[in-house]
Amino acid sequence: MSIPIGIDLGTTNSVVAARNAYGRPEVIANKEGHNVTPSVVYFGTEPPVVGQEAKEYARLGDDQIASFFKPHMGSPLYRLHFGATDYSATDLSGLVLKRLRNDAEAKLGQVVDQAVITVPAYFADAQRRATIEAGRLAGLDVLRIINEPTAAALAYGLQKSGITETVLIYDLGGGTFDVTVARIAPDEIAVVSTAGDHDLGGKNWDDRIATSLAEKYAAETGIDPLDDPLALNEVLIRSEQAKWALSERTSTRVTLQIGSARRTFELTRAEFEGMTFALMDRTRRLTEEALEEAGLSWKTLTGVLLVGGSTRMPMVRQYVTQMAGQPPRAGVNVDEVVALGAAIQAAMDVGQASESATPKFTLAGARRVTDVMSHSLGTVAVSPDGASYVNDIIIRRNVPIPAENKTSYLHETHGGANSRLEVYLTQGESTRPLDCSVLGKYVFSGISATDREVTVDIGLSYDANGVVQVRATQRDTGHLLAMRVEPVPDDLTWLGLPPQPVASEAVAEPCRIILLIDGSSSMAGHPLLDAQNAARAFLEKCDFTATEVGLISFSDQVVLQCELTSNPRKIQAALVRLEAEGTTNLSEALELARDRLLARDQRRYVVILTDGYPDSTEAAVDQAARAREEGIEIVAIGIGDADLAYLRRLASTEEGSIFARQGELVGTFGHIARMIAQGGRGLRQL
Ligand code: AMP
Repeated sequence: MSIPIGIDLGTTNSVVAARNAYGRPEVIANKEGHNVTPSVVYFGTEPPVVGQEAKEYARLGDDQIASFFKPHMGSPLYRLHFGATDYSATDLSGLVLKRLRNDAEAKLGQVVDQAVITVPAYFADAQRRATIEAGRLAGLDVLRIINEPTAAALAYGLQKSGITETVLIYDLGGGTFDVTVARIAPDEIAVVSTAGDHDLGGKNWDDRIATSLAEKYAAETGIDPLDDPLALNEVLIRSEQAKWALSERTSTRVTLQIGSARRTFELTRAEFEGMTFALMDRTRRLTEEALEEAGLSWKTLTGVLLVGGSTRMPMVRQYVTQMAGQPPRAGVNVDEVVALGAAIQAAMDVGQASESATPKFTLAGARRVTDVMSHSLGTVAVSPDGASYVNDIIIRRNVPIPAENKTSYLHETHGGANSRLEVYLTQGESTRPLDCSVLGKYVFSGISATDREVTVDIGLSYDANGVVQVRATQRDTGHLLAMRVEPVPDDLTWLGLPPQPVASEAVAEPCRIILLIDGSSSMAGHPLLDAQNAARAFLEKCDFTATEVGLISFSDQVVLQCELTSNPRKIQAALVRLEAEGTTNLSEALELARDRLLARDQRRYVVILTDGYPDSTEAAVDQAARAREEGIEIVAIGIGDADLAYLRRLASTEEGSIFARQGELVGTFGHIARMIAQGGRGLRQL
């Protein structure tokens, strides 16, 4: 039989709990008999060791150590190299979870392969996914991920009955700080708001003591411990011990010995509190943020629950007592409460999933958990005035999860030339996308050109684990669009720049364009009609205050149908005269176009439309190359039997070589006209 466990996978320490025979959650001691297992891995042995033994190696200054990796969960940049292997934070957490799992199996004498794992409420999507993956690496089926303060509230709710309370959960661990406001009703725990900082914890308090001690030691001995990793390690260990001591006493003595120079320093609690004032102040501000978000004040809270080893520091208790007007709730073990809550959730999940298979057991107190995410989820959009990119929040933070919402994009199809939509997903509160974390780039494809502009609905959701799901549907067809997740580009600086202006707002730069239209016999009938319509659409998008357009047709004969003009009517009239017969003399047509575009004072474009190979392919390629050398940009659009690879040899850029399927030609020409009007970026050789 398998037993579901709850795991508090901590930055510094981890704890495992499970329900006991009476249905009560209980911490499961590790093989060494300790309730807490340090989240530290030592790679100097094979296999690597995890826990207290690894921490001892760290104490002795061995550098084959991995610790404090939890804040880096999900980061592709964090990799540690031991032996011949690279480890991500997920791999390292997987090793810790494996040890916890093995110890629990040994202690319980049962298979352990299902777990609820807790994460800081502040963890974003990638970190939650990485936690699930770490569980999988340890052979665990991760039933669910829950926020640490939610787990604490669950454990707390278990001990309560009857009344509804509003509590603040202040969780200061080794490396993270989370503050949560939760409403605890007899049958429900609802998280109302959260705030936090995943880079703030007991380690920062240790660092402050270490810096002060190192300064004093250097002043007296001339040796700066911060210059030597081994000495620094020694100072950090002594600093943490001094911090613990100051939780019990108002002063302590710290002895440092580096080489033969031994010094002892006195440290008082008042000094310690002075040097860490800024850190305490940061937790204050975040706590007030969570209260404000919940629309509550200290006085309206019914209680404060402390979680995490660092809340043993008297400065935390004093602050809470002073602000809330009452001391924090007692009777809760700050190290174990999160794991106990996770064990309750695990038991509920398994009980719910296999109601009939397992003997029924009832837990007093909380039965339902409503969790929230502490980050708003959004997409990058263009501001209503078109002047900047903005973060468009779709699911507000602190709404209960699972949660979903949708947004829509008006997508210009350019007659099928633009069938992909890129969506950047953000987590964060700022309206500036660069202040948020960009979660991912989602590329949706297969948008049909049912209209010039189609609406694409983007559905975003947080599942019960706080993991993000994305989908897109084209509204008029109802089709779910194919999705590809692409790496977020390293350079996102463009999000801080104005978006490319739309054609109507652009200040048109003067330019000359010659349309080169295939008039060979294969164009007879529909292709020619389509070409005429497409050319009209092109003219509609041109700004004739600054643009001159000419028209050349090419078959056996190359004809200048209309000289460069800024009068669109003249070109329209010439378009009507087009006929289709004979072969495809593109090279001569290009030569004529070059001749008409001799003046170099303006930007110049040749837009070719053809439905196959020209008579002499290489001659046409040569002519196109010469035109490009003269600074004329070439756009090559193909239909029918035209070959995209060949069009690429003619055009200045890849974006400027397009094969348009049936029905797409009008849109494609319109798209090109707009690109030219916007300055021709993408069509120009750099
Ligand atoms: P946690 O992540 O909840 O296991 O908390 C670990 C942090 O709590 C570490 O930074 C410890 O140094 C700190 N801690 C544990 N016990 C005490 C104590 N008695 N006084 C101050 N800090 C403590």
